[in-house]
Amino acid sequence: MKIAIVGCGLIGAAAARHLAKAEHQVLVIGPGEPEDKRRHQDVFASHYDEGRITRRLATDAFWSDVSSAAIDRYAQIEAESGIPFHTPCGAMMSGKTGAAFTEAARATRTARRIRSEALTDDVLADRLPFFDFPPDFTGFLEGDGAGHISPRALVTAQITAARRYGAVIVPQAAMGLSEHASGVTIHTAQGSHDADIALLCTGAMTDHLAPRALHQQVYARTVALFEVDPPEAARLSAMPTLVYRWPGDSAEPYLLPPIRYPNGKTYLKLGDDPVDVELHTPADIADWFRSGGNAAVRDHLAARLRQLMPDLAIQAVKMDACVTTFTPSGRPVIDWLSPRVAAASGGNGAGAKCSDELGRLGAVLCTGGNDPQLSHTTWTDI
Ligand SMILES: Cc1cc2nc3c(=O)[nH]c(=O)nc-3n(C[C@H](O)[C@H](O)[C@H](O)COP(=O)(O)OP(=O)(O)OC[C@H]3O[C@@H](n4cnc5c(N)ncnc54)[C@H](O)[C@@H]3O)c2cc1C
Repeated sequence: MKIAIVGCGLIGAAAARHLAKAEHQVLVIGPGEPEDKRRHQDVFASHYDEGRITRRLATDAFWSDVSSAAIDRYAQIEAESGIPFHTPCGAMMSGKTGAAFTEAARATRTARRIRSEALTDDVLADRLPFFDFPPDFTGFLEGDGAGHISPRALVTAQITAARRYGAVIVPQAAMGLSEHASGVTIHTAQGSHDADIALLCTGAMTDHLAPRALHQQVYARTVALFEVDPPEAARLSAMPTLVYRWPGDSAEPYLLPPIRYPNGKTYLKLGDDPVDVELHTPADIADWFRSGGNAAVRDHLAARLRQLMPDLAIQAVKMDACVTTFTPSGRPVIDWLSPRVAAASGGNGAGAKCSDELGRLGAVLCTGGNDPQLSHTTWTDI
């Protein structure tokens, strides 16, 4: 069976590796990262970065399960590709003791027996002195492979392995699909490609290609990057990734420890947009990426970081634009959309860490297999 995967991002590249490894004929249709985002006129993606938090703990057991399954395969993907992408520096979820967010994390921790320490107040301050948490705070500090991954390197690793197993990559954007009795044809500006079935892994762009809408909501996101010098990075060498809820605040900022970027500089990254700005059309999405982010959100994030890490020696602050793609269910859609077209899409802001499992589930779906997790990822109308 010839399977076309449309979209060479985190989920598509994972699906390609799983399918090619199982000796299916795999064609991946999707461009790589643009060299100059400010001038780029084609499609964009949500993985052009060096840091994504990875952890088993989540407030929803589904995300915990798919993330655990993926984390357990990171070493295998690194070995198959020869490309490292995983930094197991630890991850913490934290909030006011007894608050709904904290207790939802605690419930998953108990239900899924996630190996982690529950740290409070003085112990928390002793162990992670660079954070200035308010009183009555609990942090669940997880080891066991938790930390961060480079989403860029993970895509490269998956595609490198997929190629080794025989996948063919066409680095072009699909402009449309036509289904017929014997298969599906994917049209690009340079030509057409036939396959028996197609799996859409096109992230924020899926609703603009799909035969029926997933009703995804795509939101503009600004991240702030805080440059630190080598001594400051060394001082923070024990810093885990962090997701936290401040008392009385529904925001859920996420913070990555010092990570070296391709420009040779080292940054901490903080994300959490105070307002959700929805992007409705492909043109809106492309314009947003080209804009490079929102300076007011960057400044809001800088104030948040100074509250959390008052001693941090920041050399410079910069920002970047990205998008997150949400589904009505809050879980990805991995399902058939028509007789020959399926989708694996909708990362809901959490799809990097578990992308290998989401891609594997897409591969199971496409090859007529079954997996209990697919009952959580069905297409629903609204
Ligand atoms: C700022 C930010 C921080 C995040 N932090 C985390 C985190 O800490 N942990 C975590 O787990 N997740 C995180 N996420 C979410 C995660 O990055 C996404 O869920 C993940 O990238 C989704 O993977 P995807 O394959 O669906 O989409 P993408 O990685 O965006 O891939 C989609 C692919 O489709 C391609 N494409 C689009 N249109 C077409 C077309 N017409 N033809 C061909 N190809 C096409 C694109 O080029 C792209 O390669 C974050 C997201 C953002 C924006």
